[in-house]
Amino acid sequence: MQTLKEQKNLAASQNSAVISAKNLNHFFGEGTLRKQALFEINLDIYPGEIVIMTGPSGSGKTTLLTLMGGLRSAHEGSLKILGQEICQASQQQLLQIRRSLGYIFQAHNLLTFLTAKENVRMSLELHDTMPPQEMDVKVISILEAVGLGHRINYYPESLSGGQKQRVAIARALVSQPQIILADEPTAALDKKSGRDVVEMMQQLAKEQGSTILLVTHDNRILDIADRIIYMEDGRLRDDH
Ligand code: ADP
Ligand code: MG
Repeated sequence: MQTLKEQKNLAASQNSAVISAKNLNHFFGEGTLRKQALFEINLDIYPGEIVIMTGPSGSGKTTLLTLMGGLRSAHEGSLKILGQEICQASQQQLLQIRRSLGYIFQAHNLLTFLTAKENVRMSLELHDTMPPQEMDVKVISILEAVGLGHRINYYPESLSGGQKQRVAIARALVSQPQIILADEPTAALDKKSGRDVVEMMQQLAKEQGSTILLVTHDNRILDIADRIIYMEDGRLRDDH
């Protein structure tokens, strides 16, 4: 009998990768100050996979995530997101990619002058093709799904750390992105809220068929991953 994990791996190997990096290098600074942050990164992530990336501080995890998220342009090698090459892509192409991803940061990055509902709604407004009423239905239903049905009209200052991070998750997931990138989403949370937040992310992603790449130092959540990868000094090791 195949285990669920083996079945999943098999299914994954028959699909094409949603994230594919080949010999990817990235540098910061110029001239004599130029410093290489990523070295020959090779990585394929398949539809529906939950991958956790871990490794010491300063090893390049955030750099890799921001490249994948189209938040900066990769320098050398190849980086394909949903089949599209974004190494040395134009600002326009990067914008396109950013629209098809959900990004969750270490700090929740909510806008303080918008309510929970308005923060989440903003992410749908970027897509602009949906009638306003349909948007409201979606926003309310995802806030209910993350357990914030009773906090829809609250401003971030009246929410706890865990609640704010749940709004950030709702915001990243409401447009049903195929890929979710999360950079230390539990770093500011206590043990229980951290675990809750990640389980919520896992469940929603499963329902929507999304792929998750999550950076964390938090050993207590490693078990949600299908695969764990390890970054050290700008290099990826998957034998960890
Ligand atoms: P991690 O997320 O694993 O802690 P980072 O990706 O943030 O690591 O950083 C990797 C390396 O790149 C570090 O040496 C860091 O100092 C450097 N770095 C990150 N961002 C910048 C930047 N904007 N300018 C210059 N160097 C940077
Ligand atoms: Mg980081």
